[in-house]
Amino acid sequence: MKISVSRLGALVEATFEAAGCGGEESRAVAAGLVDANLTGHDSHGVARVPRYIGWLQSGEVEAGRTIDVVSDHGSLAVVDGNYGFGATVGREAVAFGIEKARDLGVAIVALRHAGHLGRIGQWAEMALSSGLVSLHIVNVAGSTLVAPFGGVERRFSTAPIAFGFPVPDAPPIVLDFATSAVAEGKVLVAANGGKPLPPATLIEADGELSADPDTLYGRGGAIRAMGDHKGSGLALMCELLAGALTGSGCSGPAPQRFANGMVSIYMSPEMFGSQASLARDTRDFVDWMRATRPAVEGGQVLLPGDPERTIRAERERDGIPLSADIWSSLVEAAKLVGVDPAHIQP
Ligand code: NAD
Repeated sequence: MKISVSRLGALVEATFEAAGCGGEESRAVAAGLVDANLTGHDSHGVARVPRYIGWLQSGEVEAGRTIDVVSDHGSLAVVDGNYGFGATVGREAVAFGIEKARDLGVAIVALRHAGHLGRIGQWAEMALSSGLVSLHIVNVAGSTLVAPFGGVERRFSTAPIAFGFPVPDAPPIVLDFATSAVAEGKVLVAANGGKPLPPATLIEADGELSADPDTLYGRGGAIRAMGDHKGSGLALMCELLAGALTGSGCSGPAPQRFANGMVSIYMSPEMFGSQASLARDTRDFVDWMRATRPAVEGGQVLLPGDPERTIRAERERDGIPLSADIWSSLVEAAKLVGVDPAHIQP
């Protein structure tokens, strides 16, 4: 089935409001999840509603939280998300960094103890809407799923990283990915009969490589880091920067409360060299990349951010595709918190 963006957003918003979130907070959480579906990252979209409601009910995530500024040294600040929803405390932290970078030219904001920050590219897009270059390095305390290169035991989170770079008179570059070979949501999708995993993305406890979701969910295996030792090194740095440096906490052997940590660096391109040469170099380079001869007949070289823009245009026009299972899980979550059945129509 397909459902319009507004109808899906209204159902999700009503679900969070009935579960105890404020109106603005519910709108922000719903908008973040629907936006992930709009960009094609269904693993970070409304499929997460039941998990978010469970976290709210167990106290893992708390409604109505705002950030506290822990320290502020001008261009460097640390803020605490107080285990509020990532959609709200993440937005506040990013707005804080944007404001600083617009004043100072550069800003680093370390966010600790945020609820799930969702699709990290959304934060790079928010900085881009103020004309800023940005980099966001993230870890996930309480979610240890990925084995370091050469090992078979889970040590890292799927630790994502995102960059945004404006391109004058053209769409921006938005690079946004988990440092694991696949995001966990994709293993979950495969486990539920959806798109199979690429070969050798998981590793069994005995070291054998696998693409069988049971490796992760049934046999104590792990997701592999992307790019062998290089991706494993990147995940390690994400844990140190976003977990240790922010004070949010790295993954570890003891049970931990779920939290995203995020170090964000914002740069105003206006503070770098000549605006004319920056615009020309950026455009020339992007054009040169796009003009690469494709590897396959009729193929096309895409740049980061292109696939999300294409899917967004399709889904805004045609609606968001949802499997029957995801729709049932949304209806169940809505009923659980007492949403008026009038909202529950496909
Ligand atoms: P992915 O493997 O789908 O890669 C996405 C990136 O690659 C995007 O920048 C996209 O524009 C680019 N891309 C895709 N196809 C391309 C092509 N053909 N040519 C050029 N560029 C292309 O992403 P993923 O690793 O599965 O991550 C999915 C999402 O999960 C991300 O939004 C990430 O932020 C999110 N995530 C969040 C958390 C969290 O704790 N909040 C944890 C892990 C992942």
